[in-house]
Amino acid sequence: MEKFISVFDMFKIGVGPSSSHTLGPWLAAKHMIKRVIALSDVKNINALHVYLYGSLAKTGKGHGTDTAILMGLQGEDPVTTDTRLIAQKVQAIKEQQTILLNGVHSIQFDYNNHLVFLKDKSLPYHPNAMQFVVELKDAVKTFTYYSVGGGFIETEASEDGLELGHLIEDKKETNIEVPFNFFSTNDLIHWCIKTGLPISDIVKENEKQLHTEQALEKGLDRLWKTMLDCIYKGVHAEGILPGGLQVHRRAHDLNAKLLKKEIQANKSSVESNLEGDTATNLDSNHLEQWMQQIQSGGADFTYILDWVSCFALAVNEENASFGRVVTAPTNGAAGVIPAVLMYAINFCNKGSQQDIHRFLLTANAIGILFKNGATISAAMGGCQAEIGVSSAMAAAGLTELLGGNQRQVLMAGEIAMEHHLGLTCDPVGGLVQIPCIERNTMGAIKAITAAQLALQSKPDYALVSLDKVIHTMWQTALDMNVKYKETADGGLAMQIPIGLAEC
Ligand code: SF4
Repeated sequence: MEKFISVFDMFKIGVGPSSSHTLGPWLAAKHMIKRVIALSDVKNINALHVYLYGSLAKTGKGHGTDTAILMGLQGEDPVTTDTRLIAQKVQAIKEQQTILLNGVHSIQFDYNNHLVFLKDKSLPYHPNAMQFVVELKDAVKTFTYYSVGGGFIETEASEDGLELGHLIEDKKETNIEVPFNFFSTNDLIHWCIKTGLPISDIVKENEKQLHTEQALEKGLDRLWKTMLDCIYKGVHAEGILPGGLQVHRRAHDLNAKLLKKEIQANKSSVESNLEGDTATNLDSNHLEQWMQQIQSGGADFTYILDWVSCFALAVNEENASFGRVVTAPTNGAAGVIPAVLMYAINFCNKGSQQDIHRFLLTANAIGILFKNGATISAAMGGCQAEIGVSSAMAAAGLTELLGGNQRQVLMAGEIAMEHHLGLTCDPVGGLVQIPCIERNTMGAIKAITAAQLALQSKPDYALVSLDKVIHTMWQTALDMNVKYKETADGGLAMQIPIGLAEC
């Protein structure tokens, strides 16, 4: 059922590398514990088995599904957990063969036997399914969850009254009445014409039914700060990404090269700043200075192009390293929107707090249309559902910032998706690295091109509407062979020796 989705549910702060395979299962494990507490007591759990189905089983190891579930079972919060300690905590569970449920109740847990990857089985409702079979003192309960993309989770009919397709609502969202609900671009345009408001304000008025204006602004600031921190960490982290593919981080060297190229006069101070910064030691003064250096480097086409790539690479390298990222609308595609927003801030003079809020709110409108009209899950629709949707969201946000009218904003979203239709998901080794990291650079550049095309066009002459492209994307998803839907059974994933990636 179509519903309004808050900007804070579309953009969730969490941990990489995947929103559907990491963040969703993490939240599901936490939610399952919450349900046990509501029914009984977590201390009544004697034993626990976790079963992963379909895409979660096939690419779960590479996507960190096992890690996420273990963290969720311990009661860790993906928003606040110290990401540097994740590997250590998971290793301790494996070695000690015990797990501290919700941080209070220790049970025996053998990673190799209690967490089962059922690669040849799937559940009918959605390819990303998981079941928790919980042995309580007086009963055995099964809790089934589906991770439906972007960190959204749904649960199945159960004794505690939740029904199939029930969207888990830990935060305020959805069923609340909003003044300008929209199920299609026609609805959205209707509200824009009726009110004279830009798309960002339509969304803002809806959001104000869920939060105070002050809370909305604070939340949007927090989202952007998390995105910016992620970029900044990413450009200052070196080395090889985890997982066994031996993928080298590139954002670090590209950042250093671009700064050195353009700021020769300040070469020594720039270098000393780079040496001082680490992925875990952010300094806001350095961050400010870094942004100024980027902006003072000129407007050469390749200079801007390289920076946009650098921003996107930085986010997705952090994502691949279990770093803190914001789903936008997914983790695999988390670099597109921050990269395009950085482009707007640094090269289009659109860096005010209001600009950033407008960008995110407009992008959310497009994300809602795709989530309700098609999917944002690669396991359902391939990479068009991730990079394609993020590119459409970014294109729309940028177009509004650059002065496009509402129809041009929607047109930009349409153009961006039109040229991602049919894009398959074929992650090498089941890791969110190849082609995912580079693919974010492509999504960002296509978003900028789409925005420019829309700004230079008359939407009245466009033959393809955003609604039509959303429908086409969904039809393409239905037709797509399952091996191209986040299974690592087709495409590029079959071209690289798989043994390399097993982790
Ligand atoms: S190929 Fe695309 S959809 Fe698949 S994991 Fe990578 S970024 Fe996500």
